[in-house]
Amino acid sequence: MLQLSSKLALCSSPVALLAVGSVFAQGQQDFSAVQIKTHQVSGNVYYLEGQGGNVGLLIGDDGVLMIDDQFAPLSEKLQAAIKALSNKPIRLLINTHIHGDHTGGNENFGKLGIDIVAHDNVRVRLAQGVNGGAPSPAVALPIVTFADSLTMHLNGDTVTIKKLPPSHTDGDSFIHFAKADVIHTGDSFRTIGYPGVDFGNGGSVKGMIAALQALYDAAGPNTKILPGHGVVVTRAEIAAQRDLTVELQKRFTDLIKRGMTLEQVVAAKPTADLDAKYGSSERLIPAFYNAVKAEMQ
Ligand SMILES: [Zn+2]
Repeated sequence: MLQLSSKLALCSSPVALLAVGSVFAQGQQDFSAVQIKTHQVSGNVYYLEGQGGNVGLLIGDDGVLMIDDQFAPLSEKLQAAIKALSNKPIRLLINTHIHGDHTGGNENFGKLGIDIVAHDNVRVRLAQGVNGGAPSPAVALPIVTFADSLTMHLNGDTVTIKKLPPSHTDGDSFIHFAKADVIHTGDSFRTIGYPGVDFGNGGSVKGMIAALQALYDAAGPNTKILPGHGVVVTRAEIAAQRDLTVELQKRFTDLIKRGMTLEQVVAAKPTADLDAKYGSSERLIPAFYNAVKAEMQ
């Protein structure tokens, strides 16, 4: 039997929306060649790798709980991969945050009658349209939203979705599976590249450091960490990402204090020694410059 408990709220007050172009926006892509790979995380928790964010799954007699849904053209492939794991219907779909590589399938799954669950701010931003895009139709919007946390009881596990400090966006959540001892972090933690701060959608560097600390604190030494993108790791990787973010914050603060413009900071190559390990800093530099500057005031 599925029970929903905790503070349910239909919708929060509107959040000021900065309809600016975002580096997180996705253009037209061809998904026909994308193959979905299924990975077991622990017990009856799995994830699907395709294109976009990792899709978390909890399977069992009560039905499938799904976390994020990649892009709309992949919905049928995701459904087929889920069917191969479980003959039970998909019951709930959690959105960790607003980005299209995590919510693009909402309309398709919503039309199947699957209830979508997310933080208040996810619903607000999807309803308004993300990054100047079209507003999501009602069927694609979360039907259950929460302010702080929400606990679900199904398939023999206790699944808690909790709000993180504004970090990747202002509606980031993580999901903790108590029995399986797994955390799906959403994009506040990824094992691919630099930390991602979507400043235009409420992301924050200060908040990213706090969010990474909160994720670390929520995990035990053996907890399997399923990131928004990338591979399963332990909390030691979260600590390393937190330390990296602190170091980046320090570097950008120093450059901004010297009165440097964004162009000057780009030219100074402040991450030259780190790029070999973390990849391109093309997105990182403007995001961190703007966020750190705003947070110094
Ligand atoms: Zn994202």
